[in-house]
Amino acid sequence: MPDIAAIVAEIAGEMRNAEDRGTVASYIPPLASVPIDKFGIAVVLADGAVHVAGDADEAFSIQSISKVFALTLALGAVGDQLWSRVGREPSGSAFNSIVQLETEHGIPRNPFINAGAIVVCDVLLGRLQPREAIGQMLRFVRELAGDDEAIRLDETVARAEQDTGFRNIALANYMRAFGNIHGDVRMVLGTYFHFCALAMSCRQLAMAGRYLMDGGRVDGHRIVTASRARRIAALMMSCGHYDNSGDFAFRIGLPGKSGVGGGILAVAPGIASIAVWSPGLNEAGNSHLGQRALERLVQRTGWSVFEPREG
Ligand code: GLU
Repeated sequence: MPDIAAIVAEIAGEMRNAEDRGTVASYIPPLASVPIDKFGIAVVLADGAVHVAGDADEAFSIQSISKVFALTLALGAVGDQLWSRVGREPSGSAFNSIVQLETEHGIPRNPFINAGAIVVCDVLLGRLQPREAIGQMLRFVRELAGDDEAIRLDETVARAEQDTGFRNIALANYMRAFGNIHGDVRMVLGTYFHFCALAMSCRQLAMAGRYLMDGGRVDGHRIVTASRARRIAALMMSCGHYDNSGDFAFRIGLPGKSGVGGGILAVAPGIASIAVWSPGLNEAGNSHLGQRALERLVQRTGWSVFEPREG
């Protein structure tokens, strides 16, 4: 095993001094004021060792990374029936695009674009009230992270999205017109915005990703079956970075999911769960330095899933 503590410290040092940091998302007002100089990284290894550097303990808005946890909950609720309402193909379009929905009859390409995640929320609301679904999500990430109290929802972010998320409102109404949203559109969106408004640190996020590193288990407890963990990871690899997913697989070669808050959760199956955060984004809405940091990490560790393994 390479010296992960040294590698993580080195990457944080390099990212601290980087000049080109991307652009902070400004379409969600509270995110616009997050300082661009932030950078955090946390690596949790299969043996439980945790290595962190930079702003790894500062909570940030996980935004679309919550789509991984929402998908996990929806699969737990309805199993493979979910796939009649949302696809499993990369969209090749922006995270908030509406164009494919017209020709594809309101069935979003995958659960990691906004339209897909909105359908996932509607599925969860088939059995729960919004308050219950939001409570279930909060309990779930706290349990996964092994962190009972500290993870919270940022109501300011949720409210701002509710007030300004016109594209998401359009997506939900459009899918309602196709019959692929069954519940009250406002309640579905309220749930979606609250999931996006989860605030977590890199350390908490990397801890929460352990079930995807370890065949569906955390500390010996089964969260999902091994085959479900593999499938969620496969979707992260093919669809986790919107229209930048191919490039992420090319450069990094790990299942990962990004959010417009600048976080990325990535897993090296059997080896590590990794979270990085830097609020400046590239044009596709993915963390510019977060991607660079992960690229450095896989270069130095050989953790890409495409790296030949012994045995
Ligand atoms: N809450 C954001 C939105 O719906 C999430 C986007 C993202 O993180 O990709 O626009």
